[in-house]
Amino acid sequence: MQIRQTNQGFNFDTYPTFEKDIDPKQRAWIEVRAKAIETNVRQLRSKLSKSCEFMAVVKADGYGHDAKLVSEYAIKGGASQLGVATLKEGIKLRSSAVKKPILILGNLYSKRDLIICFKNDLMPTISSIRECLICNNIGKHFGLKFALHLKVDTGMSRLGFEINKFVQQFAKIKSFENISIEGIYSHLSSADEHNSLDPKSRTQLQRQKFQELLNQINVDRNYKIKIHLANSAGMLLTKDFHFDMVRVGLSMYGYSPIVKLDKNLSLKPALFLKVKVAFIRIIDEGVSVSYGGKFVSSRKTKLAVLSIGYADGVPRNLSGKIHVIHNKKLYPQVGSITMDQMMVDITDSNEIEIGSTMVLLGSDGDKTISPVDWARESNTIPWEILCSFKNRLPRVQVD
Ligand SMILES: *Cc1c(COP(=O)(O)O)cnc(C)c1O
Repeated sequence: MQIRQTNQGFNFDTYPTFEKDIDPKQRAWIEVRAKAIETNVRQLRSKLSKSCEFMAVVKADGYGHDAKLVSEYAIKGGASQLGVATLKEGIKLRSSAVKKPILILGNLYSKRDLIICFKNDLMPTISSIRECLICNNIGKHFGLKFALHLKVDTGMSRLGFEINKFVQQFAKIKSFENISIEGIYSHLSSADEHNSLDPKSRTQLQRQKFQELLNQINVDRNYKIKIHLANSAGMLLTKDFHFDMVRVGLSMYGYSPIVKLDKNLSLKPALFLKVKVAFIRIIDEGVSVSYGGKFVSSRKTKLAVLSIGYADGVPRNLSGKIHVIHNKKLYPQVGSITMDQMMVDITDSNEIEIGSTMVLLGSDGDKTISPVDWARESNTIPWEILCSFKNRLPRVQVD
């Protein structure tokens, strides 16, 4: 008789004790396919003219993928600048040995923050003369020029100089001796809407406003000021949104912000969300599952309990609306998603066991589940799905 060995690869002499001894794939984790980021960037870059730069937007920890890892592979794919949202994100990235220019897309308004920004070789986004003055004083104090980007508002009503006053203000800003204007940019509010190619759309009107402003301030094309407007959706519209640089987030991670995507693009999702089966039980017909008993079995049912819940960032309002993949087959999630666990109906499987891995987001064979699908079911956008994943999910790099 053969006795099944249960302690394979386990050394009893050195008992695992510490947090670091826990297998990152012990419960639920995010697989980051770093190579996909690289190929996505390369592919997107090929749509730009040679002189147009690619800024990889890695805010919110690289849309949940790990900003450091994403930056490294985006640079391999041809990104020449990086965009973050906060001072902290910028410092973290700079201290991870990234040498490329880093632009902070959010606003820094205090002298204290702007000094920290300057000392860490990060570029702030500037939306007012007041902020320009602070930067100029900081530059003067250190006997250097403070590199920054100016932002103008063309329709977001978020950050940026008021466009009607910018021409006059720009004349003044140019006279500041201790700042270096590295870029002038604006941000599109509606580029992912289906009518964005229509000349009367918000997107086209924003582009026209921006273009008119550029004509008025007459920025010399040979001068080093980088002009930029497009996010992912803007960059995929037409070439006249590209200017000197594009700022790309979502599509670099492998998702299309617009439904009708360029047929020549095949972006690859870089994020797979996986989970282990922690327990299996069989319930009779007519038995309720999870909080509130929202699901009641209509047959004798085999349930897998998965170790992932809304505290990991799976939206609770997806309860009963999603599927999970195992070995190229889909299994429906049933009952309310709980804080740390969820149940899946695996009655039709005789191969899933405790410790099996199931895929919540990603592909297996011809089955794919994307954050775009979750967003649709959850009445939100894929951006929000991606940046809701918590640190409780280890990020595991695979190539
Ligand atoms: C987040 C952000 C982007 C990237 O947007 P995507 O739609 O993810 O490509 C570009 N520009 C600014 C100012 C942003 O805040």
